[in-house]
Amino acid sequence: MESMKSCHLCKEDYVEVKQRLSMRQVAEYYGCKVNRKGTCLCPFHADNNPSLKIYKDDKGYYCFTCGNGGDVVKFVGRMFGLRNEEACKKLIEDFSLPIALAGLTYREKRERSRKQLERRKQQRFRKWAYTVLKNYWMLLCEAAHNFASPHFEEAMQELSVIEYRLECIQKHLEEYHADREAVRKIGEIERRIAGWNG
Ligand SMILES: [Zn+2]
Repeated sequence: MESMKSCHLCKEDYVEVKQRLSMRQVAEYYGCKVNRKGTCLCPFHADNNPSLKIYKDDKGYYCFTCGNGGDVVKFVGRMFGLRNEEACKKLIEDFSLPIALAGLTYREKRERSRKQLERRKQQRFRKWAYTVLKNYWMLLCEAAHNFASPHFEEAMQELSVIEYRLECIQKHLEEYHADREAVRKIGEIERRIAGWNG
């Protein structure tokens, strides 16, 4: 793509690339075999024992032996000897990301910023909701194993409901976040946990 080589990327392009790609996806695409523990042989030093770790959030990496680390752009830059901007362009090309590098209208740019913001909000919501539900779930599990617990009945009623909600957040984050009633419920559960021993 000739047009792409000459144009410059803006901050939103980097954000977009990082949001759209996971670290694991990128590492695997360029030949790293990532195991179940999220580690692989480091391509940046002679490695015979997997010492490159992919972060839990799947957005970055770090090698415990040679100390290289960063995000998907840094990874590709290091691997192919490219500056950040070139590395970012390579990712856009290699993954055919729907990012129009040149000639975005003002309206399109605004729309893109809006979507990026929305995605960030969703991620924040997921983190919060997941923590709340998981904490509640653990309290319920504890209560379910103790017949004398004042929360035993609640546990019997709610455990499967909470498990269902956890699954929904993992699988249908966008819909869940858009559902006002479901979001309100998480707030309710948060207050429920706060008054658990009261
Ligand atoms: Zn290394």
